[in-house]
Amino acid sequence: MRMTGAGKQLLLQAAGEIGLNLEPHLPQFDQFFDLLTAANESINLTAIRDEEGIVLKHFVDSLTCLTYPGFQDGMSIVDVGTGAGFPGLPLALVRPGIRFDLLDATKKKVDFVDSVIRTLKLQNVNAIWGRSEALSHEIVKRETYDAALTRAVATLQVVAELTLPLVRVGGFVLVQKAGGVESEIEPAQPAIKKLGGRLERVIGLELPIIKDKRNLVVIEKVAPTPPQYPRKAGVPSKNPLS
Ligand code: SAH
Repeated sequence: MRMTGAGKQLLLQAAGEIGLNLEPHLPQFDQFFDLLTAANESINLTAIRDEEGIVLKHFVDSLTCLTYPGFQDGMSIVDVGTGAGFPGLPLALVRPGIRFDLLDATKKKVDFVDSVIRTLKLQNVNAIWGRSEALSHEIVKRETYDAALTRAVATLQVVAELTLPLVRVGGFVLVQKAGGVESEIEPAQPAIKKLGGRLERVIGLELPIIKDKRNLVVIEKVAPTPPQYPRKAGVPSKNPLS
């Protein structure tokens, strides 16, 4: 299904509210929308299926990452647990100068992301099927990314272990959270510290138009991650680091 005129207007307006001009990227978002809604009919990619939901809660919500001023062309970024490509794909569309690796443990989701990359002929995006716990111990990937992003994967305490080992010292992790992140911060502090991170800031924001509360938790990578982390696949979520 292609986007309606109203959907395109909504996307332009909402992106405008966070300081982005999406006009030049509209054809790509339209194509992505088409692929997402078509794929969702046969495989369950996302529970959000209505046009306004996809536009605001997937596309624009992903783009709110850019309200953190740390994104620069030339960077290499990993999106851990990207699912159907969020937040990585919308970010890759508006920032072609940044390289994105979109990682997910579920094959059908990676296949979908791959089909979007091929259909839209994206040069700056790569889909990877695998678990963060395994990728983090690959010498060619460990502590190589300038940043890691993640949305809706696990609590802060758990995602710290799934993201920080991939980021170089001096880089950052950006975790997208809904409102009410405060209760997750204190329990995550020991894990963040053990993994070489330091909580830098929490940016509170509202989604344009619907005003849902969101937070961007930014963790700075200040020291190398000790080699024993991350632990084996599944352990970070079963027995969160504390
Ligand atoms: N970020 C997307 C998807 C969230 S669902 C969005 O916000 O819409 C969580 C996704 O994380 C699932 O697709 C799951 O396969 C993936 N995931 C969970 N643990 C993972 C891990 N350790 N490594 C890689 N992917 C993981």
